[in-house]
Amino acid sequence: MKHNNKCIICDSLSFKGLFSKESAHGEQFTLLKCRTCGMEFLASVPDEEEIKKYYEREYFTKRTEWGYDNYFSPALKAEIERVFKLNLEDLDFYNFEKNLGREKRCLDIGCAAGYFVGYMKDRGWDSAGIEISGDCVDFAQKNGLNVIQGDYLKTGFNRKFDLITLWATIEHLHRPGEVIEKAYNDLADNGMILLSTCRTGGLNFMKLKGKRWRFYNFPEHIFFFSIKTLKTLLEQRGFSVINYRTYGSDFGKSGTISRKVADYIAKRYNMGDMMIVSAKKVKD
Ligand SMILES: [Zn+2]
Repeated sequence: MKHNNKCIICDSLSFKGLFSKESAHGEQFTLLKCRTCGMEFLASVPDEEEIKKYYEREYFTKRTEWGYDNYFSPALKAEIERVFKLNLEDLDFYNFEKNLGREKRCLDIGCAAGYFVGYMKDRGWDSAGIEISGDCVDFAQKNGLNVIQGDYLKTGFNRKFDLITLWATIEHLHRPGEVIEKAYNDLADNGMILLSTCRTGGLNFMKLKGKRWRFYNFPEHIFFFSIKTLKTLLEQRGFSVINYRTYGSDFGKSGTISRKVADYIAKRYNMGDMMIVSAKKVKD
């Protein structure tokens, strides 16, 4: 077990216990909230080796965050690509891309089946990914993608990247601060980092759900950021936050008018329970 006994954002040692919840394997996990900065995180989590049982193939076929039956289906691939495109527009990414040279390199950390790696390859990037799950890496490699299996923190690269992305990844990491620090070092000057994660704090639809919130999956999700704590994490490590958006309400039933209205409000007024953030490496 890894115990989180210090807040990763503000070093505070003072937390309150929010609640405990059972994992898919029947163990109880307790969610804490930092009294100083509001960061939420699990009190303790299985270590990197132990936690692998939660990431077996089953995770990608039955329990995906998107609520789809099969992570590897063409319909899901199309839907994921549609969402990437919207996210990149919202973050004004295409203007950043326009000003880069011909050789553009990107790395997707926690790339799963490699859909974003493929999306960027199709846009003419030298596109790579890294992923822990062997099933996902096999799938990506069979599709001709440059995806390696491994732990990002233990992997060296012989080149710098113009873009590093972490899509729905940072909430899973045991050491998010160290990963952001390494990403800073792996980026070229003026390189960009893009992240998406579930969002706590502020005016937020997740508050209607309490412990039933769709992203409180323990222990797969370890850290729960607000806009403020995610910005702080990035700024402490040399990034300057450029843009952010929130979206998603999970209000009512999928496909209903009330869901559509709630999703619209969530996006329009930054009340969503998911967020996307772009930040630039500031030269040291
Ligand atoms: Zn804190």
